[in-house]
Amino acid sequence: MAGAAAEPLFAARDLVKHYRLGRVRVPALRGVSLDVSAGELLAVVGPSGSGKTTLLNLLGTLDEPDGGTLRFAGDELAGLSDRRRTELRRRRLGFVFQTFNLVPVLSALENVEYPLWIAGVGRRERRRRAGEALDAVGLAARSRHRPDQLSGGERQRVALARALVHEPAAVLADEPTGNLDSVTGGEILDLLVRLNRERGTTFLVATHDPEVMRRAGRRLTLRDGRVAADGSVP
Ligand code: ADP
Ligand code: MG
Repeated sequence: MAGAAAEPLFAARDLVKHYRLGRVRVPALRGVSLDVSAGELLAVVGPSGSGKTTLLNLLGTLDEPDGGTLRFAGDELAGLSDRRRTELRRRRLGFVFQTFNLVPVLSALENVEYPLWIAGVGRRERRRRAGEALDAVGLAARSRHRPDQLSGGERQRVALARALVHEPAAVLADEPTGNLDSVTGGEILDLLVRLNRERGTTFLVATHDPEVMRRAGRRLTLRDGRVAADGSVP
């Protein structure tokens, strides 16, 4: 186990990704390398189309690179079977999206329970843990509400609770404040920062929000599918 603690959570080398549009190949990432240590709060910034979403999707094992290598907690992802990758994604990663992606017919509590249900956790345990997660995002009083009975900020809190309920090593958030006004976005950001500090959960946040950039510990700037800058935020 020597050196295991120093192993980055994510280690990406020369990641390349193209999309195919008919016969056209659209380059999205042209050789991106980065290490992310456990406990970091990393803002991924850059103009629209620079590759932020593509990078998060690769790191989150939602998509596969066309070139380069990617290790998660020391494991080479390309070497894992689809089943192991899915398991890793469900157990060790959480996701937050700009559009919340909640299940409309489920209550807040049921939405948060959902990942635990997928993981085969029993009903009582599910209820308890989902209740705790809603409590952690300040939404215990709304647990029976459906998404359409909640404000945007409340919906994003539910999504955050859902991303955290299985205590993942890392949460990947793609423009999590993009659909919220600045005050509500600021509250979501306060939560991210607090959860990062208190639980040591790693957060990778793709964002245009200057406030997120300011408060993240580190900022990775993409431009045209390449890393233009990578450094700690002063
Ligand atoms: P960002 O999140 O920074 O806006 P993306 O990762 O979404 O950037 O996109 C990077 C590049 O890949 C852009 O040129 C975009 O148009 C292209 N792209 C993204 N998704 C697709 C797709 N599904 N099909 C074709 N091209 C895509
Ligand atoms: Mg994007």
